[in-house]
Amino acid sequence: MHVLLARENGFCFGVKKAVELTEAAAETGKRVHNLGQVVHNPTISRRLADRGVHVIKDVAQADEGVVVIRAHGVPPAVRKEIEDRGLECIDATCSLVLRAQRFTKQLADEGYTVVILGTPEHPEVAGLRGYAGDGHHIVETQDEWEKLPKMKKAGVVSQSTQPPWAFTALVAHVATIAQEMKVFNTVCPVTVKRQHAASELAEQVRTIVVVGGKNSANTRELVNLAKMQGRNAYHIERADELRPEWLAGEDTIGLIGGCSTPMDTLLEVKRRAETLGAQTGSAERAAATA
Ligand code: SF4
Repeated sequence: MHVLLARENGFCFGVKKAVELTEAAAETGKRVHNLGQVVHNPTISRRLADRGVHVIKDVAQADEGVVVIRAHGVPPAVRKEIEDRGLECIDATCSLVLRAQRFTKQLADEGYTVVILGTPEHPEVAGLRGYAGDGHHIVETQDEWEKLPKMKKAGVVSQSTQPPWAFTALVAHVATIAQEMKVFNTVCPVTVKRQHAASELAEQVRTIVVVGGKNSANTRELVNLAKMQGRNAYHIERADELRPEWLAGEDTIGLIGGCSTPMDTLLEVKRRAETLGAQTGSAERAAATA
């Protein structure tokens, strides 16, 4: 059985920078804290824990050392709290997220009611809403944006990992309920490229395995895309979660990882899929000749 890798895989540049900055901080011998998991990937989280990096939920849990802000960014109040507590801050917020935060603040400063396309509980959205001013809205589904009130001035931005089609649909709707509208397209082009790669893969195979943290928004979006194209799509975090029955009857399967999935995890899954595929193929041939 063949395993076809998508043409886009491995860390995006934002995740790569966040992991490298955390590892470099750990090398200094100081006490290093990640404010939330640096990326939504269990393998990387374990690797950093082995190097002594502590994951904290709240700045108050750190009384000395370094706090690393992850690629998702934080609201301004959290940044201030790190300073107020006298902690060293390493800011690994992705440059694209910083750009989205700047645009969100600009919209609020110019008097627009900010509408954010995103998952309310996602940390990146928590960061964005810290810049969005009073009366902002967070919407994720068509049902939700159809309930938005009429607005004089509406400003629209997006969480980086939202699908471009949803952003376009939201903007089209807001145009019908706002007298004036300003839009900053803050959908991440790296995740868009990854989504295109997933669609290309889905054109070539019936079954796709998607590797990435279960809480990773961009990974879940790849699973949704494959399903929307009528493919069998399985979301796993580690190679040992791969099940032989998913591969039964397949000559070729597709494999893609989220933006926070390291290449070595993906290659482990590839090796296990090839091994399981060979075993499943032999068993099927033996059953056919029996
Ligand atoms: S997915 Fe995009 S916005 Fe998010 S960290 Fe990667 S490059 Fe940055």
